This record gives sequence, C-alpha cells and structure tokens, in this order.
Amino acid sequence: MRTTTFANRHIGIGEKDLAVMLEKIGVESLDELVNKTIPANIRLKEKLKLEPAMTEREFSEHIAWLASKNKIYKSYIGAGWYDTVTPAVIQRNVFENPVWYTSYTPYQAEISQGRLEALLNFQTVVCDLTAMPLSNCSLLDEATAAAEAATMMFGLRSRAQQKANANTLFVDEEIFPQVLAVIRTRAVPQGINVKIGSYKTAAFTPDIFGCIIQYPNNSGSVEDYRAFTEQAHAAGCKVAVGADILSLALLTPPGEWGADIVYGSTQRLGIPMFYGGPSAAYFATRDEYKRNMPGRIIGLSKDKYGHICYRMALQTREQHIKRERATSNICTAQALLATMAGFYAVYHGAEGIREIAGKIHANASWLATQLAGLGYAIKNETFFDTLRIGLPEQVTVQKLRTIALSKNINLRYFGNGDIGVSIDETTTLADSNLLVTVFGIAAEKSTHDAAEIPDSASIPEGLRRQSSFLTHDIFKKYHTETEMMRYIKRLERKDISLAHSMISLGSCTMKLNAAAEMLPLSNAAWMNIHPLVPEDQAEGYQILIKNLSAQLETITGFAGVTLQPNSGAAGEYTGLRIIRSYLESIGEGHRHLVLIPASAHGTNPASAVQAGYEPLTCACDEHGNVDIEDLKAKAEANKENLAALMITYPSTHGIFEEDIAEICRIIHRCGAQVYMDGANMNAQVGLTNPATIGADLCHLNLHKTFASPHGGGGPGVGPVCVSEHLLPFLPGHVSFGNEQNEVSAAPYGSAGILPITYAYICMMGEEGLRHATEAAILNANYLAACLKDTYGIVYRGSKGFVGHEMILECRKIHEESGISENDISKRLMDFGYHAPTLSFPVHGTLMIEPTESESLAELDRFVNAMLTIWDEIEEIKNGDASKEDNVLLNAPHPEYEVVGNKWQHMYSREKAAYPTEDVRENKFWINVARIDNTLGDRKLLPTRYGSFD
Ligand SMILES: *Cc1c(COP(=O)(O)O)cnc(C)c1O
Repeated sequence: MRTTTFANRHIGIGEKDLAVMLEKIGVESLDELVNKTIPANIRLKEKLKLEPAMTEREFSEHIAWLASKNKIYKSYIGAGWYDTVTPAVIQRNVFENPVWYTSYTPYQAEISQGRLEALLNFQTVVCDLTAMPLSNCSLLDEATAAAEAATMMFGLRSRAQQKANANTLFVDEEIFPQVLAVIRTRAVPQGINVKIGSYKTAAFTPDIFGCIIQYPNNSGSVEDYRAFTEQAHAAGCKVAVGADILSLALLTPPGEWGADIVYGSTQRLGIPMFYGGPSAAYFATRDEYKRNMPGRIIGLSKDKYGHICYRMALQTREQHIKRERATSNICTAQALLATMAGFYAVYHGAEGIREIAGKIHANASWLATQLAGLGYAIKNETFFDTLRIGLPEQVTVQKLRTIALSKNINLRYFGNGDIGVSIDETTTLADSNLLVTVFGIAAEKSTHDAAEIPDSASIPEGLRRQSSFLTHDIFKKYHTETEMMRYIKRLERKDISLAHSMISLGSCTMKLNAAAEMLPLSNAAWMNIHPLVPEDQAEGYQILIKNLSAQLETITGFAGVTLQPNSGAAGEYTGLRIIRSYLESIGEGHRHLVLIPASAHGTNPASAVQAGYEPLTCACDEHGNVDIEDLKAKAEANKENLAALMITYPSTHGIFEEDIAEICRIIHRCGAQVYMDGANMNAQVGLTNPATIGADLCHLNLHKTFASPHGGGGPGVGPVCVSEHLLPFLPGHVSFGNEQNEVSAAPYGSAGILPITYAYICMMGEEGLRHATEAAILNANYLAACLKDTYGIVYRGSKGFVGHEMILECRKIHEESGISENDISKRLMDFGYHAPTLSFPVHGTLMIEPTESESLAELDRFVNAMLTIWDEIEEIKNGDASKEDNVLLNAPHPEYEVVGNKWQHMYSREKAAYPTEDVRENKFWINVARIDNTLGDRKLLPTRYGSFD
C-alpha cells in the first residue's frame, strides 16, 4: 500500500498502526473485524463499479476542465438569485477557513462563542432590516422558508379557525414560481388548500387562515400592502411576507406595516449564486410566536460568573426532544452562509448597505428611463431593482434574446413574452450602458452611453424607509480590511473545530474535509452562475451532477437520485413525499402511518409529520436492536394503513442489526416502503448498501458521510436515492416545466458544494471508500476496546463489536458520584476537545464516532483524556476530591478564571487547565465559564441590542 495516495492521507490509520489496534481489539485482521461486525447476508457480492481513483493533481485538472465548461455570462435573471460581491476578507478568512467551515453546530456553547456571536450578528441584521423583533439563525432557502411560514401560520390558527377547519392559504399570484411550487409540495400532505389570486381583490372568506405576499413581487413591483394586511388581521388571518433583504434598506420594512412573518434569502448579502445554493434563508417573526418558529435561535445568556455570553436558545424545542410534536423538522440549516451574510453587514455597516442598495436602485431607475425612451413599456411603476418590460411591436423575444446572448447577457423571459431585468451589486456603468445598447439594437434605435448614473429617488414617499437600521456598535467598527480581518480572527479563536482536534460526535460523522475537495469552490466558474441560466452555459455543472448522481447510485445500489434537498431532514421529508406519490399512483394513497423505532433521530418523526404522516413508534430491545416482535405486531396490525418504515442503519445505537433484511421483508409484506435514514452510511460504503439490505430508498448526508463540511450547522446536502419503482416521483422543478414534489428553490439544491463530494469520491475510488468504511469501524472498535473497562459500552453487535460509533455508559457514574455526562462533556473542553454526542440516542450517555480520518495518535490522546477524566471521577467517588468543588462540576475553566487573581477552588490552577501533559502543547483557551442554560430561555434576547438589565 502506498502512503502518498489521497485515500491514505484521508484515512488516519497506517499499516503500522493497524497491528497495534487489532491486537487491542482482539482480532487477527481487519477482515475478521469487518466480517464479525456486518452481517454476512447483507454484504456486497461485488466491488462498487467506480472509476479508478484520481490523484489530487488529476482531480484538480479534471475539475478545472469541468469549470471551463461553465460559461460566465452577466445574468439579470433575478427571481431570487442576484450576483453579489463576496468581500475577499470574508471569502478568505471565513469561507475558505477550516475553523469556520469544519466546526459543528454550536450546541456546546462554551467552545462556540465565535460562531454564536457571528450568528447573533446575522439575526440582528435580519431583525433590523425587516423591523421584526425575532429572527432565527437561518433556514435552508427562500422557498422552504415560505413553506415553513405556511406551516407555522397553520399551526397558529385560532381555536375557532381550527373548529371551522379553516385550511386555505392565500398566496398572491405575484410570488416567485419556485417558491409557490415548494409551498404546494408542503401544503398537499398537510391538508392545506392553496388559493392563488391577486391580493388586490382578495376576499377574506372564513376558510382562509393565512396569506403569503412578496415584497418586491415577482414582477419587481413594490406594492403597498398596508390596507391588505389590516384587512387580513381584521379577518383573523396571519400575513407572511417574502422580502428581498437588500431592498429593505430602502423600502418601508414589513415589520412596520404589520407583517407576522418575514422570510427570504440572504444570498445577495455577499454569497455567490453557486448555481442555486447554498445560501442562507432568513425567517423573522413576532416575539409572541417564538415557540412556534422553525429553526434555531441564538440568544444571549450569562456564564456561571455572570459574564455575558451566547448560546442556542430554546434548545428544548429541537425535534430531538419534541419528536412528532416538533414545529418543524429543520436540523442542519445554513450556518456558514448566515455567518458570512452577517459579516457582510458588519463590514459594510448601515451606510455601506444603503449605498449598495441605492446604487442598484439608481441603476434600475436609469435603465427604466432609457428603455421607456426606446419605446419599451415598463410594466411595474414601482421597483427596487427589477423591471418587468413589455416589448414594442417590432421587437420579438427571440430577437432580443439572440442579441443579449451575443453580448453574454442573460435576461429573464416571462411566459407571456415580457422581459425581466434585475440589477445587482455587481452591475457597473459599462454593464448598464451595454444593457441599453442591447435593447436599443433590438428596437433598431441608436443609444448613447451615459457617463454616469444619476441618483434616484423614484420609490414613492409612502414606501420609502424612514427608520434606521444596523445601529449597534458592531456595525460601525469594522469597515477597514485590517479591522475586519482581526474581528473575524478574534471570533475564530473562540471556537473548537476540526482544525484543533477530533470532534467525535456520534451520528454526525465529523470527518476530514480535505483541502483538495474544498479548493474548487473558490473558482468563479462554480461561484458566479445563476441557477436558471440556459443549460449550455452550465455544462460543467451538468456533467458534474450527472457523474455524481451516477456515483451515488452505484454506492447506494439504487436507480435514481435527486440532489435537491438541502439537508438530511429535508431528504427525509422528500423521501416520504416520493413514497406518498408512489402509493397514490397504485391506489394506496390512504396509507398514512410511518413506523419509526424509538431510537430514531428526532427528525424522523418530525419529517413524517411534515409529510402528512402519523408516526408510530416501535420499541427497541435490551441490546439496542429494533424489537422485531413489536415491529412485526405493529406492522401487521396496521397492514392496511402502513405507508413506510423509517430506519437508520447501522442503527443510531451504532449496531449492525442482524435482522435488518427480515425487517425489510416484514414491511414489504404489509405493502409498505422501507425508507433508510442514511446518516450512518459511513459504516456501509463499499461493504453493504441500502438496496442490498432491502430498502426502497434512502437519503444521504453529504455533510456527514461524503466529506462536505458541517459549516457550524450547514450547509448540508441530503440527496435521496430511490429504486426503480420510485423514479417517476422524484422531484421536478418549475423551470423544467414539471414541479412535482419540488422541495427546494433551486433545481439542484446546493449545487455549489457538490464538487466537494464529487472530489471525495473521485479521489478515493472504490478501494479508498471501502477502506475508509473499514477504518471507521476499526477506530470505533479501538476506542470501545480502550474504554470498555472503565465507562463501559452500552450496546454491541451479536459478535461483540460495535459499528462505526459507540455509546459510552455514563449513567452509573452519575448514580455513584453525581457527575453527569454533561459534566464530562464540559471537562473535555479543558482538554481541548469537543464533546461527543450528548444523551442521544440514549439518555445519560455519550455517543462517540471517531471517523476514519483520525490517526492512532489522536485516538490515544482522546482516550488519555477520557481516562484522566475517569480518574477524576474516581477521586470524587473515593473522597479525594470534593463532591461540590471539583474539576468536573466547575468545567470548563475559562482563561480569565485560571489566570485571575482570585482562585477559590480546592484543586490547583494547573490541574484545571493542564490536566495532561499533552494539553500544554495545544491548549485551547476557553473564554467563558459554564453557561446558564435557563437564563437565556427565560428572557430571550435574540439580537445584539439585548441586555439583562
Ligand atoms: C444528522 C442526522 C439527521 C438529520 O440530518 P440534517 O442534515 O441535520 O438535517 C437525521 N438522522 C440522523 C440519524 C442523523 O444523524
């Protein structure tokens, strides 16, 4: 085996380590371990048929060649995506920085203060621009945010509305088509009837519970919705507004005219279009709806010594705990992109944002005047950046399109023959002149280049923003690059990421995100493409999407794939929508139950509910396996109404259940489908797969198994792979003329990050991927072997081995010493480690997944930390340490405490901060003490303006 291949750099374990580890585990060979871990009846008979592995250099040439097949035109298509300038200081120090892109969702607040602050900035930007009091820290995209708004308003119906079955959602006809399509996909299974019409003539019949309008609308028009909103409220209807975040710098924000929910995209705050995504959607609402809002909210709190700090607020709302009662299934969102958008606003400040929006509007105004002069009809009297243009008689769409394309320009072509032009931040004087030239040539009229674009104030007085925004100091201090760079670095220092140490989060698969996989994303040929360009301009993307889809089909054994879902949970929902369509097609549409094992991830039941299904829980036995008798009994008792089983494999307990094939057969005999939650695919790739196991479809988490980084809570990609009989029901997209089951705004979801997974698979090849799976199983079993005699391992497979992750017992410790799994997690921070998965799927435990990327040295360092903590617990148990004042209960120990003049603990500073020798070499200094989890919930402060006084 050569050591210089990509695979051998990705996989942390070398030939020499292997012998040591196998001996510790107690097996002769890796094959023996794998054979004793994965049931023989589900092993692949043949190797995956993938292309031979590329070297880093070969891939870099290949991806450069693909990039060269994308043509970068100037796109004025708009419709939800706009070219923008990503400040280089943000691109380099955040987007291309592994500390920011490899970190985990900030559940462990003490080692996440940097990204928590960045996300609080984002929320503050959203609240300020929309004039709403409460914002979450991102949703997946504008269209799913609209669907979430629909669901939330439905859930907020008054008792009278519920009684009267008021189930109609009014949607103004001037909404982006892809947003409407996604609302429809969501509405159908929830029993929401979508009524399309003009807000101008809407009648508030008693069946209407909520309305969705857009500002500016699909035609670019800025409508005055004040009267409409008042009428809606008078009729007891909620109003959700899709708003262009940048336009709100100039327009009266919806919060000032009564909106209940404001949502939209923050893509144009410095996030490249990426052929559709990723970018962060925003969602803001009134304070009284805080418990109904989907997604995560960051709020202020205090640490145990009273220092102000940040944390994720209202964590108990997560599906994790609420399961089928969760308000939404959103888990992974778009944290990295929200962080970047927040930084964009910090960098520009109110004045910069106003200047950018003002310039866009001036350009659009000037264009409107010029085009009117050429005989074109500007159909929208009011606008921010977008004109809807009617052609004069002598100009055909075809003629205009040909001329525009000859100048490398894309316009929007409405179905009725109108033309759309959306100006953006990148539009220059030369661009504006060229646009006028194009329209002039088409009209056969001469035009003159302008020397400058005059300022404009064409927004009607009553719609002009009067209120200030971004008034907090944070938006005033960092407007030079030096200051901005240092601000980003200051926050970065507060966060633990994969750049520091192993993040052994079970189920989350925090593996290496290799530099060679990430590099292509910085290429303008992947970044600056609008998702609705003609296909021949995106040939590079098209080939990549085709190749990657084929690879994922090969790996899962399935016949087709959709790349649309923007997270694992979105994949679950999509998969269930596909099942629903299929069942309807065979006359089985009445099936409405979904069996879900008790051990399942909380998104499973939450997604089932979103897809209009009723979750039915089946039990697990004492070995952590699905209780097959219970499953069989429940499946058969509900034979007529069972739609599907959702099952994670290996189970969330980290075990390859022996009976999985039988479980699939039981479900099929009942006429239902088997949906596999692919979060644990890292234990399958190359050795088994969902099709072989007997499932009908699955989702994958590219941000877990397939090397796409976690981004501190997104972006994610959750492709759904399906067998033959489900192919006809895969999501379409309005832009293809088929909007069946459309689940994302963009045709290919977050296309911009697909090169990462593509790179991973191309460079790993069949052997590398298979070896990675084996190494993941090896590493987990090694840790299990090292920790079994102290903590103990909760579940094991039939032959005594764990899968790619394992659950560490902490309940006994708690009984004996009062130390909880949470205390252990916090103490790990003093060692420079992020905690493993806490109390999931079993309360009172820690779930550890080392992944294949970690080296033996790092595994040993982690074991050493865990065993040192074990000794510290022993000290408490045997009285050598105080039960009240000990290193565990007081963890983590922040720098200000360790170096402070006052040290009031019964143990030394050294023991607190340097618990082992190797910590000295790589000390991660924590800047807050343990955070008060309830304070921030009692008084929710979701913006920078908040204070506890
Ligand atoms: C991560 C995870 C999910 C949810 O995936 P997201 O991308 O966060 O939406 C679902 N199921 C399991 C078992 C998971 O580990």
